[in-house]
Amino acid sequence: MTDTIKYLIDETRIPKYWYNLAADLPVAAPPVLHPGTLQPVGPADLAPLFPMDLIMQEVATEREVPIPEPVREVYRQWRPSPLFRARRLEKALQTPAKIYYKYEGVSPAGSHKPNTAVPQAFYNKQAGVKRLVTETGAGQWGSSLAFAGALFGLEVKVFMVRVSYDQKPYRRALMETYGASCTPSPSKETQAGRAILAQRADHPGSLGIAISEAVEIAAQRDDTKYALGSVLNHVLLHQTVVGQEAMAQLEMADDYPDVIVGCTGGGSNFAGIVFPFLGAQLRGGKKVRIVAVEPAACPSLTRGQYAYDFGDTAHLTPLTKMHTLGSTFTPPGFHAGGLRYHGMAPLVSHIKQLGLIEAVAYHQTTCFDAGVLFARAEGILPAPEANHAVKGAIDEALKCKAEGKSRTILFNLCGHGHFDMQAYIDYFGGKLQDLDYDEAELAMALAGLPSVKAAA
Ligand SMILES: *Cc1c(COP(=O)(O)O)cnc(C)c1O
Repeated sequence: MTDTIKYLIDETRIPKYWYNLAADLPVAAPPVLHPGTLQPVGPADLAPLFPMDLIMQEVATEREVPIPEPVREVYRQWRPSPLFRARRLEKALQTPAKIYYKYEGVSPAGSHKPNTAVPQAFYNKQAGVKRLVTETGAGQWGSSLAFAGALFGLEVKVFMVRVSYDQKPYRRALMETYGASCTPSPSKETQAGRAILAQRADHPGSLGIAISEAVEIAAQRDDTKYALGSVLNHVLLHQTVVGQEAMAQLEMADDYPDVIVGCTGGGSNFAGIVFPFLGAQLRGGKKVRIVAVEPAACPSLTRGQYAYDFGDTAHLTPLTKMHTLGSTFTPPGFHAGGLRYHGMAPLVSHIKQLGLIEAVAYHQTTCFDAGVLFARAEGILPAPEANHAVKGAIDEALKCKAEGKSRTILFNLCGHGHFDMQAYIDYFGGKLQDLDYDEAELAMALAGLPSVKAAA
């Protein structure tokens, strides 16, 4: 383990490679399918949407993928991100557990998302692309891509889920500050958006709809590509800088996690911290318990079906096998906008299916309770999404207390909540509701899953 880490991370302590879990999986993940032919998609099928370098990373099988020097140059601004021991939180909980957290809120956009936004902008620029189109939920991804676009001289257009657009005007202002343009979704600018608005004029939007709009625009022009902030293999790959650094930092503390906790929206920050440790385990290293925490109002890993489904609502994307609530499912409007996606990263779904990870779901009020307890102990105010990881880590620490056992817990504090203060205002005002999704709507969305018997 020691040698691996020294090889992967140079004297600047920034990883030189991204870690590719595909190289260590006991069983390969199911292929991505073309929705028309139900045959595995090839690089050419994805070429209208992504530059070839990213497509090749999507299907890469080698364990280490080199990080280009210009990307490491940008990473240097905030990487390596700090790993903290949460001593005051441990004390507040009176737990014998040791709690560590990796803090990704130190990036310019305030979350882990620039870890992939920067290389995505870099590879697109290299391929001669002029404009990137994307979607955003809470605005974290939109502002991260806007930041990366500004660095590499790319125009950025963002479709922002309507409910977040209204709830989070400051995220939108940040995107515009970086020079991006921001449109609430569903919008009248696309066929996909117009079709949704015709059904329901006040539709709150969803990531699935915003993805359809962005993909539709990107497919129309040669100088325009699409960028996704989560779910895809190459996005998860870029996030592995988080786990590699954590591993090296824990080694400096002469420690190793027994449990790793992360929140899951599309699965990228979770994969980022987990995959390097899981890879070490699969290569014969120490077994680690791994817990994914998701919102009870959008519970893809705990309540979804493991099935082939579309990544978007208008069915413009290829089919991926994943834990899904159905591509037409619209979750209720809770505050962790980054966790409101109907599906889950195929790689995260695959390792869940293989029994390599566990998943739990919590309602938002209990997650805010945990986030406020954390802020009062550690001083950092977590993003509403990150509160799910905080809640999961606190529960693990309380289990240690009940059992009178000391364990080392590591979690990913994937972002700060400085742009999410309205959520905290609502929480302190007693206005936060624990909304349940509509069971009938879920049943309907699942009944509408595409039938993929040929490949199943
Ligand atoms: C986007 C986002 C998430 C959810 O996305 P993942 O791909 O699951 O990481 C979680 N936390 C924060 C802070 C985010 O910005």
